[in-house]
Amino acid sequence: MTGSATLLERGSLKWLVDCGMFQGGKELEERNWHLQPYQAKNLSFILLTHAHIDHSGLIPKLVQEGFRGKVICTKATRDLCEVMLEDSGHIQEMEAEWQNRKGKRAGKKEAIPLYTMKDAEKSLQYFQTVNYGEQFQLANGIEVRFQDAGHILGSAIIEIWIEEGGEEKKLIFSGDLGNSGQPIIRDPSWVEEGNVLWLESTYGNRFHKSREETVQELLKIVQEAIAHEAKVIIPAFAVERTQEIIYTLGQFIRERSIPSIPIYIDSPLAISATEIFKRNPDCFDQETQALLSGGENPLEIPEIKYTQTAEESKAINEDSRPGIIVSASGMCDSGRIQHHLKHHLWRNESHIVIIGYQAEGTTGRRIVDGAKTVRLFGEEIAVNAHIHTLGGFSAHADQKGLLAWLSHFSNPPLEVFINHGEEKISTELSQLIRERFHFKTVVPQWREKKVLFGEGAKELPEERAVEEFIPEESFSSLFNHLDRTYKRLRRKLKREKKRGDDLYDPKWLKQLEEINKKLEELDSEL
Ligand SMILES: [Zn+2]
Ligand SMILES: [Zn+2]
Repeated sequence: MTGSATLLERGSLKWLVDCGMFQGGKELEERNWHLQPYQAKNLSFILLTHAHIDHSGLIPKLVQEGFRGKVICTKATRDLCEVMLEDSGHIQEMEAEWQNRKGKRAGKKEAIPLYTMKDAEKSLQYFQTVNYGEQFQLANGIEVRFQDAGHILGSAIIEIWIEEGGEEKKLIFSGDLGNSGQPIIRDPSWVEEGNVLWLESTYGNRFHKSREETVQELLKIVQEAIAHEAKVIIPAFAVERTQEIIYTLGQFIRERSIPSIPIYIDSPLAISATEIFKRNPDCFDQETQALLSGGENPLEIPEIKYTQTAEESKAINEDSRPGIIVSASGMCDSGRIQHHLKHHLWRNESHIVIIGYQAEGTTGRRIVDGAKTVRLFGEEIAVNAHIHTLGGFSAHADQKGLLAWLSHFSNPPLEVFINHGEEKISTELSQLIRERFHFKTVVPQWREKKVLFGEGAKELPEERAVEEFIPEESFSSLFNHLDRTYKRLRRKLKREKKRGDDLYDPKWLKQLEEINKKLEELDSEL
């Protein structure tokens, strides 16, 4: 999950599909610093499925390390990357600054940002845009086409045709796949044939409620909040979810299901993203096009208050009227949403509506998982508000959606790499695809290599490649775990000793002896 990137090699040509940043915890984010295997200087292209940071976030880092090739994507993706990468650079700078404030006092060496806003800005000169549906030549014997993925504005499925030993092979990258029937943008395109597919699996084991049901649920929440003069807080990704929420709330007001109440869009990034939506009407679906040509812009309603500055953002909390606050980040880990959560999580009458994916290790995930308190700005905040999770607004297809999309393939020997999901989920989906479609499926590990076509493919059977691959971090995370368990044991022992309790049960002694023996064996073997 997160950090999507696939390196493709053919002869001396190397290119990436996506170049995402890892998000969700220190250990995972450490990976963002180790890009050596990509060899930035030797890469010719990055084919970019869409602008989300978990797909595009390391492009500036790659440019910083010497990438001088082309980043190829749709126009809307480029426009969105302009604001999103700069925002990401800004976050990196802030984080380093914060660490330095803490670190200096602790005598630590200076932290540097992963990349800066300037790096992000510089990386934009390497972007080159293509139109949906247009097949173009990437290099000799390699053709590429971008198709609608229905996930966010500008998002694409990427098809790659490669001539290999006189034969044509086709690779497909699903990117992140959206749902059919979501507002504003077009539905995902179907792909009917190919040899190898990389399929996302974010919600590979989940079933979303239908959009209509979800819209009704949101309506009820908003109505209840209005009845109790309370606020609804919606953490939302700045791109797509925010615009979809604007669209839906606008619909409530247009249909007079709710009175006119203030709707705060408190995220400078969401404001810029909304502007970009307005600039790219060619990506809209028929319904939105029709509204537009009828003179109505569903992204412009009088109730919406865009708050750009920090002062305006703070002033929201002085408005005691019932209202709705949509703010980023979508996973509650950074940004202005944290201030709003601090103000509202502890209030019984407030409503928090979670509409997007919450990665493991994030504040949003803890709230969804039912934490009694969460830590914000160094303070424990009680979770008393009503917490709602509305899956139907997801930008990702659920299991049913993914299988429905796959069912359009008519080419039986398809080989499917299942990526971009938590391992358990990817594995479950993999099993299901094998049973349902009899496709060959693989859940690749981070940095696993595979020879797809040609001589090497025969020499390196898939089983062997999978077995032999043990990521370095498996070891380090095990060691860390061992370390933590040991420390916890010591702490317990100390505590019990203080209390005067008798811990020295013969049962424990026997277990400890066994563990000790095992560790000694391991030590001498290593
Ligand atoms: Zn995405
Ligand atoms: Zn993604």
